[in-house]
Amino acid sequence: MAKRHLSRNAVRDIGTARVETLLRLSQEAVRAGRGDRARRYVGLARTIGMKAQVSLPPDFRYCRRCLLPLIPGLNCTVRLTGHKVVCGCRECGAVRRRPYLKEQKNHD
Ligand SMILES: [Zn+2]
Repeated sequence: MAKRHLSRNAVRDIGTARVETLLRLSQEAVRAGRGDRARRYVGLARTIGMKAQVSLPPDFRYCRRCLLPLIPGLNCTVRLTGHKVVCGCRECGAVRRRPYLKEQKNHD
C-alpha cells in the first residue's frame, strides 16, 4: 500500500463529502425506482464512513437489514404504538422501534 500522507482530518473531510454525496445519490436512486443502486450507495457510504471515522447523519434513515434508504410513504411505514415509533421497511419487512418518551413527556 502507498505510504499514508494525509492527516486524519483531511481523510475525515474527504470522507464527509463522499458520504454526503453518496447518501444524496442513494435517495435519488430510490425515488427513481433503482433500489439496487440505492443499496449499493448506502453500503459504500457506510464503508467510507467507517474508514474515515465519519458517522452517517442521524436524520438519514435506512434499513439496517437491506440498506435501502427509507422514505416514509414510499418504501417504509411509520406507526405509533404505545411508547414506540415503529418504522417498517416495505422491501424486506425489517422493523425498527424507537421510543419517543421524551417527546411524550414534553407534552404534559
Ligand atoms: Zn429492508
